[in-house]
Amino acid sequence: MVPQKRIKLLMKIKDILQQAKNEGWALGAFNAGNLELLKAIFQAAENQQAPIIIETSPGEANHFGMDNFLTMAENLKKINRATVFTNLDHGSGLEECQKAIEVGYDLIHVDGSALPYEENVKLTKAMVKQAHQKDILVEAEIDKILGDSCNHQEQAESVQASGNYTDPEKALDFINQTGIDILAVFIGNLHGTYQQPPRLDLDRLNLIAQKCPCFLSLHGGSGLLAEDVKKAIEVGKIVKINVNTELRLAYRQTLENVLRGSDEIAVYKIMTPVIAAVQKVVEEKIQLFGSSQKVIKPAVNSLNNTYEV
Ligand SMILES: [Zn+2]
Repeated sequence: MVPQKRIKLLMKIKDILQQAKNEGWALGAFNAGNLELLKAIFQAAENQQAPIIIETSPGEANHFGMDNFLTMAENLKKINRATVFTNLDHGSGLEECQKAIEVGYDLIHVDGSALPYEENVKLTKAMVKQAHQKDILVEAEIDKILGDSCNHQEQAESVQASGNYTDPEKALDFINQTGIDILAVFIGNLHGTYQQPPRLDLDRLNLIAQKCPCFLSLHGGSGLLAEDVKKAIEVGKIVKINVNTELRLAYRQTLENVLRGSDEIAVYKIMTPVIAAVQKVVEEKIQLFGSSQKVIKPAVNSLNNTYEV
């Protein structure tokens, strides 16, 4: 039985994604692997009055526990009164995707890009069927988005050259066969930050956007040129942009600075500037994506803890 509040939130995310597409802005999807990151992202969402997606990679989900992550996110929604949706990021296995559906993420990203095409179709289609029964949206990808969420020393071009950019015709076939809600495109975007920012194939993105009826997402939102991000939203109708590496960098660099020369051992004091640093990055991304001030502050119904939509 799906709790009523989840149905309400789902109705809203589809509406919000459509609103973003119509108006030319995108929701940021930010990874959170612990409480401090969650707090930073929620506070940024509230400050900016922006709808956002908060997500866990399988590694982050394992560290956190999916149930813990969702429970904390629900609790923070009440405190921060932000419009926040949850996503399993790059769920590559049947088991973790099913678990995310079972515990009630708002979206799941089924990443079958390492599989042969027909097997990717089969896995994604099966997950769409299960997820949609619980009113959960599904994002998927065909062409592996390269890199990982680290600060890379190699040149972006050398990494980009080893992958296959998304073909518009193939993308349409995949969408038609699987019934996904969001397609994650590979158009030169890379996970992680690089010596030179990766450049996006915006003409290809434009063709994909014209061809494909579903929503489009852009992974690798860290380290891109602001002009490329704005163009991707404008010409490619991108409505979801994933950001992880820049949050991790802000977290680590600030933590190192705080600890250097300090004998402080109270964790909450150590973490306060770390949270502020991550929050600043998230707020800057929200402004770049154009999603600031895009939702009216939701009112909390004290009787059943659902948001009024
Ligand atoms: Zn990704």
